[in-house]
Amino acid sequence: MGTNMGFPQRASKKGHNMKYGFGVDLGGTTVKIAYFEESGNMLSKWEIPTDLQEQGKNILPDIAASLLGYIKENNIPMDSLLGIGIGVPGPVSPEGIVNRCENLRWGVFNVNETLSRLTGLPVRAGNDATVAALGECWKGGGQGCKNMIMATLGTGVGGGIVVNGQILLGAHGAAGEIGHIVLNREETEPCNCGKYGCAEQYCSATGVVRVTKRTLAATDAPSALRQIENLTCKDVFDCAKAGDAVAKQALEKVYAYLGEFLGNLCDTTNPERIVLGGGVSKAGDVLLKGIRPYFDKFVFHANRDVEFTLASLGNDAGAYGAFKLILDAVG
Ligand code: ZN
Repeated sequence: MGTNMGFPQRASKKGHNMKYGFGVDLGGTTVKIAYFEESGNMLSKWEIPTDLQEQGKNILPDIAASLLGYIKENNIPMDSLLGIGIGVPGPVSPEGIVNRCENLRWGVFNVNETLSRLTGLPVRAGNDATVAALGECWKGGGQGCKNMIMATLGTGVGGGIVVNGQILLGAHGAAGEIGHIVLNREETEPCNCGKYGCAEQYCSATGVVRVTKRTLAATDAPSALRQIENLTCKDVFDCAKAGDAVAKQALEKVYAYLGEFLGNLCDTTNPERIVLGGGVSKAGDVLLKGIRPYFDKFVFHANRDVEFTLASLGNDAGAYGAFKLILDAVG
């Protein structure tokens, strides 16, 4: 179990004073688990499948068994462990109460208490997107920032807002649901959330494809995009790079939406840095350069001095952030 990253666990010179802990990124298909030393060095990581049977009742017991197995296998003293941080795909209150995680088929209960009872360790749970933002702020694209906004432009749009080094949770743990900020009051198609005109409808990978299809439908101009059967976000960026006028036009619309979206967010929390992650961010610098002029146009002048970067931890952001959650709580 686990990939050992070559760290001589208890033979370190700092030895007995060193504290350790776990970061868990709970997804609808797999659970990513990582073991860290308190500095944030990831010592090992592994995955277990997410068992969705019977309303997901086996998920936390499976995680507990995996963690306890790892602890035993590696002779890790319980008193060297700070605890477990866990990112969950749904709203989590500051006390650790999940409120209906559709992906996991969970109802309402306290994750902190349940996983703590199963493992004998302190537990802190948070929403997966906000936890990933905390990870990027600590060890990734937002490293060194005390104020940061992370926008994950994936199938949907998720986010996390860090203010004064702390992840913003809000009264019910739903702060940072930036994907459902309305950008277009005239929208006629509904978002997945049931509202109309959400950022997610234009700025996610699916949104890029949607905007492109609309752009194509509104023009007779020739475009290589018309020959592509299952158009993807990457196709749009590739065609734009190759000079396709319609692809470029579609991306300009996306950049304008993103510029307005991120500008409004910066006017709310005045971050030092914006970190972009998710599938759309794979376009790289071309995306950052595309957004900038629109951002500069829409943001209030005093909030214009913001650095744009790409997320750098990839799939590990959630585990890093989850560990940081427990580290901040008990470390
Ligand atoms: Zn929405």
